[in-house]
Amino acid sequence: MDFTFTEEQKILRDEVIRFAQKELNEGIVERDRAQEFDRSLWEKCGEMGLQGLPVPEEYGGIGADPLTTAVVLEALGYGCRDGGLVFGICAHILACVVPVVKHGTDDQKQRYLPGLSDGSMIAVNGISEPGSGSDAFAMQTHAVARDGGFVLNGTKTFSSNGPVADLAVVYAVTDPGKGYHGGITAFLVESDTPGYTRGQKFEKMGLRTCPIGELILEDVFVPEENVIGGVGGGGPIFAQSMEWERACLVASHVGAMERLLEDAVQYARERKASGQPIGRFQAVAHRLADSKVRLEASRLLTYQAASKLDRDRKVGLDASIAKLFVSEAFVDSSMDAIRTLGGYGFMAEYEAERALRDSVGGTLYSGTNDIQRNIIARWLGLKTSE
Ligand SMILES: Cc1cc2nc3c(=O)[nH]c(=O)nc-3n(C[C@H](O)[C@H](O)[C@H](O)COP(=O)(O)OP(=O)(O)OC[C@H]3O[C@@H](n4cnc5c(N)ncnc54)[C@H](O)[C@@H]3O)c2cc1C
Repeated sequence: MDFTFTEEQKILRDEVIRFAQKELNEGIVERDRAQEFDRSLWEKCGEMGLQGLPVPEEYGGIGADPLTTAVVLEALGYGCRDGGLVFGICAHILACVVPVVKHGTDDQKQRYLPGLSDGSMIAVNGISEPGSGSDAFAMQTHAVARDGGFVLNGTKTFSSNGPVADLAVVYAVTDPGKGYHGGITAFLVESDTPGYTRGQKFEKMGLRTCPIGELILEDVFVPEENVIGGVGGGGPIFAQSMEWERACLVASHVGAMERLLEDAVQYARERKASGQPIGRFQAVAHRLADSKVRLEASRLLTYQAASKLDRDRKVGLDASIAKLFVSEAFVDSSMDAIRTLGGYGFMAEYEAERALRDSVGGTLYSGTNDIQRNIIARWLGLKTSE
């Protein structure tokens, strides 16, 4: 496969890197320490069109294809040192905007996509619950049909952007007998709907500038025009959004890995030990060579998966391979950046320790890496116990 950038991809990529380096990085150490989300940065990203990457132009987006979306998210991950902000934007686009673009009615698209694209709205995806995560479709949240709509009850957890979101894509059981195939429905729920409350906000190891919390639904009435993709259609909608998330969110890790590697190589050239640059020590140089190999393999797997989105049935396999490999490569390369920096790598002022903390999240969200291995094994024709 040839992944040579088109002229449009080159221009977008360069613009986003310049924008992110100039506008998004100031104060990141302090924001991370304070676990602070900065809405003004979100709005700036909206002005750049980032949140509307895969949204058709008629609904206020820039109409990028999936591969271009991945290329731009990679650029964002490279230019922006605020991993929480990058993650929040990716979760918004891939798990919330994509379902509306792919399955929303024209009315839903007109009502929500312009605001979701221009940075004036923030979205959250709610599927995980306190008692169900990997087995997401064992959810307890349910929706009962009533008076031209549905009444939702339940609690969602670990919802990225939840504490600041204006709109939630909520999955609920509408037919307990059916499960994934026909039993789950996706709803668009505005956060000012009576009965919708934001529960606890979690203190986290990493991605600390992206607030994550609970969503509590108590007799929340959602009109039927806010059902996405038809009653009972939620399972496949969620599965498709996870393909997008697995394929494109890791693109931002590829960008972050490239930046970490550049910083580590520079450090290895300048830092001296025993009278010579540490990069002359084979132990250090080989570590950075390994990081380079992981980076290039990650990029190819990501582009391969993204290029198959919505085009090739095998994308489920490619997206899981990319998610598994790149998220683990990101952890390993963050750790190698710390090793290269020695004691400085352990200090908050340098970026490597934050990258390591952020990278661990990637092995858990969008389905843990154990779940990715289950999916890959299934494609190999092997049955795993689930
Ligand atoms: C940073 C972050 C952001 C998140 N954002 C969101 C969000 O925006 N919206 C949302 O709905 N959720 C979100 N989540 C939740 C995430 O999707 C779940 O944490 C994840 O699916 C795992 O579920 P769990 O935490 O309940 O773990 P469990 O499912 O309880 O798993 C615990 C352990 O058992 C293993 N395990 C479980 N089942 C199997 C199996 N069948 N085969 C092999 N191993 C298995 C897991 O791999 C893991 O090691 C987020 C999580 C994190 C960490």
